[in-house]
Amino acid sequence: MTTVAIGLGCNLGNRLRTLWAAVHILRQRGIRIAAASDVFETPPWGVQDQPLFLNACLVAETDCSPEELLALLKETEEALGRRPGERWGPREIDLDILFYGQEMVQTETLTVPHKEMANRGFVLLPLEQIAPTWRHPGNGCTVREMAERLPDSERRLVRICALL
Ligand code: ATP
Ligand code: CA
Ligand code: CA
Repeated sequence: MTTVAIGLGCNLGNRLRTLWAAVHILRQRGIRIAAASDVFETPPWGVQDQPLFLNACLVAETDCSPEELLALLKETEEALGRRPGERWGPREIDLDILFYGQEMVQTETLTVPHKEMANRGFVLLPLEQIAPTWRHPGNGCTVREMAERLPDSERRLVRICALL
């Protein structure tokens, strides 16, 4: 079993229902949820002209390899109605691998830890709630340290509710 961190985001459809449905599917597929952050409403990142996002993070246990976990996340996205679209554009659901234990993975299809996580308030602030001391194997910083270094522009999150 490996402990992993997963980031969830969505800005189309019934956003909260979709986040719950994603958790449900992941559980059905054998992912054991150890902790869930609150749900936050966040401004879009990268492409501005689109609806606000809901974001949350999970800490979970899995037997999947990193590539198997990526495939499972992509299948879950597809099951929830995500279709290929522009990067950073609007989507029904986005599921990213943030951490896979302390492993670093770099392949054509997968970069773990997630390469933008240190720059993203919508990742670090939810993750800080459930994994503040998790240390990034690449930059050596804990989640809390990365969160403390975020600029104010990355702190515009509004707490909506608990995810679970
Ligand atoms: P970003 O990766 O900047 O958050 P995005 O989530 O919008 O952008 P997607 O279109 O969902 O990007 O994914 C593009 C590809 O990124 C995926 O098909 C996947 O192969 C690859 N990828 C690389 N590293 C990861 C990771 N850690 N988690 C999920 N996907 C990843
Ligand atoms: Ca993403
Ligand atoms: Ca993604």
